[in-house]
Amino acid sequence: MRIKIIGGGPAGLYFSYLVKRQRPDFEVTLVERNPEGATFGFGVVFSDQALAFMAADDPETHDAILPAMETWRNLTLDLEGERIDIDGMGFAAIGRLELIQILTERARSVGIEPRFETEADDLSRLDDADLIVGADGLNSFIRGDGSEYGTEMPQLENRFIWYGTDRPFDTLTQSFRRSEDGPFNAHHYRYTPTLSTFIVETDEDTWQAAGFEGIGEAETKAYCENVFADVLQGHSLITNNSYWRRFPKLSCKSWHSGKHVLIGDAVHTAHFSIGSGTRLAMEDALALSKAMLATPDDIPAALAAYEAARKPITEKIVRAANTSAAWYEDFANHMELAPADFAYSYIQRSGRMDDERLQRLAPEFFATYSPHWNADAAGGQA
Ligand SMILES: Cc1cc2nc3c(=O)[nH]c(=O)nc-3n(C[C@H](O)[C@H](O)[C@H](O)COP(=O)(O)OP(=O)(O)OC[C@H]3O[C@@H](n4cnc5c(N)ncnc54)[C@H](O)[C@@H]3O)c2cc1C
Repeated sequence: MRIKIIGGGPAGLYFSYLVKRQRPDFEVTLVERNPEGATFGFGVVFSDQALAFMAADDPETHDAILPAMETWRNLTLDLEGERIDIDGMGFAAIGRLELIQILTERARSVGIEPRFETEADDLSRLDDADLIVGADGLNSFIRGDGSEYGTEMPQLENRFIWYGTDRPFDTLTQSFRRSEDGPFNAHHYRYTPTLSTFIVETDEDTWQAAGFEGIGEAETKAYCENVFADVLQGHSLITNNSYWRRFPKLSCKSWHSGKHVLIGDAVHTAHFSIGSGTRLAMEDALALSKAMLATPDDIPAALAAYEAARKPITEKIVRAANTSAAWYEDFANHMELAPADFAYSYIQRSGRMDDERLQRLAPEFFATYSPHWNADAAGGQA
C-alpha cells in the first residue's frame, strides 16, 4: 500500500502517524511546502473537551500534547470596559508551531520523515500511489477547482486579522471596543505562559472608514493597538503573515473522488469563534485512518466509510460555527444591549444553549445574571 499525503498541518501529520503506527508495512510519504518549523499563526484554541476525542484511541499523543496546553475554566466578555465572567466555559490552547512540532515528532517516531520544502503541483507525479490524501488546507491543490467535490465557498462579510501579543491573558476573552470609525472585537487568549493570540475583527463599513485598504502592516497594527490600548496595557501586537481576510465557509458535497480524499481545512472550515478547526482536522485524520485500516484492500469502501462517519458530525459542528459567525457579523448591534443581555445573547450565539444547560454549565454566571434577563422579559428594568 502506497499512501501520499499532501500537507504537513495538523491533519496530514496526524494521519501519517496513525496509519504508519498500525501498519509499518505501508509506504507513507508526506510532503509539506514550508520549511520545518515555519508555520503561520499563533495559538489555536480547543473548546472544552479539548483532546477528549483522542484519549481512548491514542493516549500517547494525547499525553504528549496535554502538558503543552494552557487551560482555563472561565470565559470573559469585556464590553467597552464592563467585564462579565462566564464560569464553566473552559478552553485549552496551544501554539500552532508547538502542536505541529509534537505531531512531527510523533510521525518520526513511527518512521515517517516529512519532506519539507516540497510543493505538490503536479497530479501526474502522485499517480503511482494507491491513496492520495489532500491535507493541504483551505486552498487545497488536491481539491483543485472543487468541481469533483461539489465545493462551495461563500465568504463572511466581516474582516479579521490574526495577531499575537506578549501579554498573557487570564482567560479566553472577547473584548468589544469602538474607535472613531466604528466597532471592533478582539478574540484573545494565552497559548503559552507568556504569549497570546489576538484576533481583531470588524465590519465592512468600519473597515472602509478606517482606510485599511490603503495602509500597510505597521499602520494597521498601530491602529489596532490604539483601539485595544486598555486591553493590551502597554504590550504590542506581534505580526506573522498578518493581513485582513474574510472567513471562507468551505463545504464539499463529496469528500473523496477516485483515490483522492480530503481531510481538515481542505474539505470544511468552521468559524474560529467556536475553536474547532484544528480538532475537526485531527478527528478527520483519526476517522480516515480507522476506515483505511478496517478495509485496506478496498479503498473505495474505506473512503465511503470515512465520509459516512465524519460528514454528518462535521456538518452539525459547522452549522453551530456558522450560527456563531452570524452573531459576530452583527456584533455592532449586539453591543447596543445592556451588559447582562449582551452576555446572554453571546452565550446563545451557536444555538446550542438552553437555560437548563446554561445553569448546569455556568451556575455562577446564571445565578448572577438570569434575574436581569427575567426582569427584561417581564418588561422590567435590568
Ligand atoms: C484566524 C484563524 C484563527 C483560527 N483559530 C483557530 C483556533 O483557535 N482553534 C482551532 O482549532 N482552529 C483555528 N483555526 C483553524 C485552523 O487553523 C485550521 O482548521 C487547521 O489548521 C486545519 O488543519 P489542516 O491540517 O487541515 O490544514 P492546515 O493547518 O492549513 O495545513 C495545511 C498544510 O498544507 C501545506 N500545503 C498546502 N498546499 C500544499 C502543496 N501544494 N504542497 C505541499 N504542501 C502544501 C500548508 O503549507 C500547510 O502546512 C483558525 C483559523 C484562522 C484563519
